[in-house]
Amino acid sequence: MSATQTAQLMDGTGLAKRILEEAAAKAAEISQRTGTVPCLATVLVGDDPASVTYVRMKRARCAKAGIQSRHIALPATTTTAELIDTLAGLSGDPEVHGILLQHPCGPHIDERAAFEAIAPEKDVDGVTMYSFAAMSFGLPGFVSCTPGGIQRLLEAYGVDLVGKHAVVVGRSAILGKPVGMLLLAKDATVTYCHSRTADLPAIVREADVVVAAVGRPRLIHGEDIKPGAVVIDAGYNPGNVGDVDFDTALTRARLITPVPGGVGPMTIAVLLAQTVDAAVNQLGPQH
Ligand code: NAP
Repeated sequence: MSATQTAQLMDGTGLAKRILEEAAAKAAEISQRTGTVPCLATVLVGDDPASVTYVRMKRARCAKAGIQSRHIALPATTTTAELIDTLAGLSGDPEVHGILLQHPCGPHIDERAAFEAIAPEKDVDGVTMYSFAAMSFGLPGFVSCTPGGIQRLLEAYGVDLVGKHAVVVGRSAILGKPVGMLLLAKDATVTYCHSRTADLPAIVREADVVVAAVGRPRLIHGEDIKPGAVVIDAGYNPGNVGDVDFDTALTRARLITPVPGGVGPMTIAVLLAQTVDAAVNQLGPQH
């Protein structure tokens, strides 16, 4: 700890490990009770090296947690219609409990149409419109994994969001937008910022909670963090750099996620936890 550090680090690695252990225990229980091992289908279009690595990591974690995975590698030339056929087939396959379509799929694919071919009960990555709506209405369903991971981090560190001003920087469908909805559900007052926001620093300075979800190294300056704020940095940029200027933010925040080891590990943990939950829902809960 440096002499000027005031913030406590939010340990995503440790929390993710605990979530994965719980998921593994649940997977073992349901496998033993029903004779069926929870199964995640991973679908990859093309061979983008980063996507190949992500899928490999997710499958390795599945294996460690006692979750089966079935990988479907489709050629880069796959059409949207062919991808939809594959996803619809998996949606109807009783041996598959969760479906992950690794994205981006390539510019020629209509990703929204593809996502919508995933049955809501198998949408363990929380990418369908059904899942987004269910989350927004506070109804049962699967959340987008990174927002779900952020929510669990905030809960684990006892962050009370009631009446707090939460500023979400970024508004993507898988990250910024759903994070804001989850914070709103916890009674925070939420401001969304994006590429057209005027005077981002002034808004960040007012934030009790900042969620950075952009993908621009050190976009959020440490000096703009309100003393005592909670800082969640979901950004991941080359060189293990987040969207927040970590060194300065560390001296002002109360709680902060490191990059790496903060939000990152939580995403896979939530994916696997939701896969096991999907299997439990489909195979029947314990009596
Ligand atoms: P994205 O789809 O590219 O969205 C980026 C968002 O940032 C957009 O809403 C964009 O605004 C906004 N933005 C761009 N420049 C801005 C600026 N100068 N000021 C304010 N807002 C700006 O990215 P994403 O998929 O949400 O991912 C965001 C970051 O999170 C990336 O670093 C990604 O690697 C990381 N990520 C991490 C995980 C994980 O597991 N840890 C998972 C997913 C993503 P507009 O809407 O106006 O374009």
